[in-house]
Amino acid sequence: MSQSIGFIGLGIMGQPMALNLLNAGHKLAVFNRTRVKAEPLERAGARVAGSPAEAACDAEFVITIVSDSAAMEEVVLGKGGVLETIGSSAVLIDSSTISPTVSRKLACHLAGKGAAMLDAPVTGSKHGAEKGELTFMIGGERKTLDRVLPVLQLLGKKHIYCGQNGAGLSAKLAQNAIQATMVEVFCEGFVLAAKAGVKPTTMFEIIQSSMARASLTDFKAPFIFKGDFTPYFPLKLMHKDLQLALEAAYAQNVTMPTAASVKEVYGAAKAKGKGDLDYAAVITVLEEIAGVEVRDGAAKTSRS
Ligand code: NAP
Repeated sequence: MSQSIGFIGLGIMGQPMALNLLNAGHKLAVFNRTRVKAEPLERAGARVAGSPAEAACDAEFVITIVSDSAAMEEVVLGKGGVLETIGSSAVLIDSSTISPTVSRKLACHLAGKGAAMLDAPVTGSKHGAEKGELTFMIGGERKTLDRVLPVLQLLGKKHIYCGQNGAGLSAKLAQNAIQATMVEVFCEGFVLAAKAGVKPTTMFEIIQSSMARASLTDFKAPFIFKGDFTPYFPLKLMHKDLQLALEAAYAQNVTMPTAASVKEVYGAAKAKGKGDLDYAAVITVLEEIAGVEVRDGAAKTSRS
């Protein structure tokens, strides 16, 4: 059954997600702060809204996927925000990775209008979004999830219910802290080996034959070896997620010493202007310090 959906945020993730909904026959009103990014969706049949409020007006479901907590607060509570028009039986499904505390606050504002909210952050990156194979981690009322599930099934292959509002985001922050750490320590190991003259391809063969093998680093390694840091997940967003994980840890008396130090390496890469590159570009900071590059089969020292 075709549904009226408002879709807000047409970045790396939002573009393909919105397109999958359109291709499945849903009626979409899309909003993106930078209008030009809405044009491919307009050509595919979406109506372009002039504000989040306009996208949410008359929508049964509103899906948001924007950068961070501040963006989400602006989209919902700001002038021309979703709260101005959302219907009393509508559901806001937020797939942004933001603070669980901010998400719960937004859910309270929406409840004041009679609308429901789910935090539904995702994993699966740009490829997963394109193929409709994301994994969703969901917080909110179970019965609300049951209502929106047919739509979320067009975007993802797994929908894991985590608990009340904010629980999906808590799970997502834990997952990204693990992922950020895995990639950073993989890079540390490869820089160490390269400095000693071991070729990246040799080192990769060793990792793939060992218990350290992981699908994440299997995917990232070829890009690293080519020095191709085209963003699948921008480094500045991974840095933001580590900060959010550490804030959640502080609030709950949880200690995350490794994630805390890894966050500083991502922070250094961001400070060096690498924030818009893929988060695998974290290796460039380690390479610069060691004076070696992990590229294309040959470990190149900065002297050679
Ligand atoms: P992105 O390409 O940088 O897109 C960010 C989107 O947020 C853009 O549409 C941007 O609008 C919008 N935005 C930022 N600030 C805004 C504001 N103040 N008001 C309204 N809109 C605003 O990022 P992405 O990779 O799609 O990620 C989006 C969210 O998904 C993030 O929370 C990220 O952590 C999460 N996520 C990403 C991935 C991934 O692999 N990329 C995977 C899982 C989760 P403009 O076009 O105007 O800048």
